[in-house]
Amino acid sequence: MQPSLNKIVIASNNAGKLAEIRKLLAPLGIEVMTQSSLGVTEAEEPHMTFVENALTKARHASLATGLPALADDSGICVSALRGDPGVFSARYAGEPRSDERNNRKLAEALHGQSDRRAYYCCVIVLLRHGRDPQPIIIEDTWHGEIIAEPIGQGGFGYDPHFFLPELDKTAAELSIEEKNRISHRGKALARLVRMLSENKTAPIVSA
Ligand code: IMP
Repeated sequence: MQPSLNKIVIASNNAGKLAEIRKLLAPLGIEVMTQSSLGVTEAEEPHMTFVENALTKARHASLATGLPALADDSGICVSALRGDPGVFSARYAGEPRSDERNNRKLAEALHGQSDRRAYYCCVIVLLRHGRDPQPIIIEDTWHGEIIAEPIGQGGFGYDPHFFLPELDKTAAELSIEEKNRISHRGKALARLVRMLSENKTAPIVSA
């Protein structure tokens, strides 16, 4: 692994995501700092795509701290809603953000709808420094169906409504380890970990 990636800042304040990311990066021995612990405010997410928002968040954290930065932008895309809530997943029911209100709004939007297909999408961006011209960008998805009533206590966000027919469970009924093995974020981060441990990233250039 490259020495400059011994310490990175995570451009997220979402406790659920941070727990998943920390667990997945632990084997690499990378020290993971949160942006809030370094006094960095949350970046705006003004864009229409996950990749643009992830880049914006990672650049903001890296420029503010001088550290390599990892950002994840993710959300749920619902087939019958033409991909909504998509990049608006966290704020689907408006501010202040609330998983419960988001889930209620989604259940209502799909009331009477027979097409329940949905997928989570995750885009991970790793910037080696704030002006990195060649960020690592990894994208993955996780497919399931939206159910009307919540089931399960684990996970976060839309997990109690995200049903996995092959497991006969919702994402909120999985342990963090089970979820990380198959989820959009788990698969994307596993690919990132593989790349970093095999040293397949582009050579480091000075900021
Ligand atoms: P972001 O922090 O702007 O990327 O917003 C991501 C939002 O998408 C979260 O607040 C959740 O609403 C939703 N989301 C993304 N990944 C997951 C997941 O693994 N489980 C449940 N909800 C998720």
